[in-house]
Amino acid sequence: MQEASDGLDARRQRAAKNQSLFREFNERIEHLAGGASSAEFICECLQAECDEPVSLTRDEYEQIRSSSNRFFVLHGHEFADIEEVVETNDRYLIVKKLGVGADVAQTLDPRTREARHVDRA
Ligand SMILES: [Zn+2]
Repeated sequence: MQEASDGLDARRQRAAKNQSLFREFNERIEHLAGGASSAEFICECLQAECDEPVSLTRDEYEQIRSSSNRFFVLHGHEFADIEEVVETNDRYLIVKKLGVGADVAQTLDPRTREARHVDRA
């Protein structure tokens, strides 16, 4: 089933790219929020058309951003074949990308942009 796995890789890659764009956007939101203790970020799920707000404290946001392979998404916005839920609370889920998605998330991390340990599944 080589083809099926190629298709999955392509989807994982595309998803991680989309999510990395949301991540860049959220980095700007955090910057604009200045010293505020919390802010309304944008859901980082793979659906390009999703722009639903998620409220996070600065600490929660920083915690997620401290890893290149962590994204937050709303409940129901996670996709089991491309990501794994690693943490959950009543407002959002934290997911990590699987397979090639982890590599993309790592490469596109605006905070590192350089080789570091990849938290790969
Ligand atoms: Zn979403």
